[in-house]
Amino acid sequence: APIKLDKFCQELIEEFSLIENSYHEIVFNSHSQNTDAVMDERLLHYLFRNLLSNAAKYSEPGSKIKFDLTCDLADGVAIFQVKDQGIGIPTADQNRIFDSFYRASNVQSIHGNGLGLVIVKKCIDAHNGKIEINSQLGLGTTFTVTLPLQ
Ligand code: ATP
Ligand code: MG
Repeated sequence: APIKLDKFCQELIEEFSLIENSYHEIVFNSHSQNTDAVMDERLLHYLFRNLLSNAAKYSEPGSKIKFDLTCDLADGVAIFQVKDQGIGIPTADQNRIFDSFYRASNVQSIHGNGLGLVIVKKCIDAHNGKIEINSQLGLGTTFTVTLPLQ
């Protein structure tokens, strides 16, 4: 069945806030015009739970996490952005963080396995989508995920 992206994102964020209880303020902004998408709901859950979990883990409690949804009907894509105000990813590490077990040099004191983004990448590939990183050390990180609506 098609997924209402607005509703899906809203519920995902609520569920994440309840379960993680990480004291972050998660702000959802939607420009999706109530769009339906043919996507795998279970894979979408894995994808965005992992991105939100990273955003929370690599930023201070109390800081803001922004989740933006835009649907571009002309291009037939949904664009999701997860934006944090955290520690950032060193430029030298950015092209390796999708490798299994790889963790950047600035997170050694924070626990993790280096597998979340491997799952993220697989979920995106399954939808023929793409992911982009924009990050500045000490300022924050934005992951942009673009998925076809069909
Ligand atoms: P886990 O397997 O528990 O998710 P992890 O978070 O270390 O462990 P990934 O989610 O795959 O593994 O992320 C890989 C690496 O990418 C992280 O170790 C970290 O260095 C970097 N990273 C990912 N997201 C962020 C973010 N939002 N801010 C800063 N660094 C990040
Ligand atoms: Mg992770």
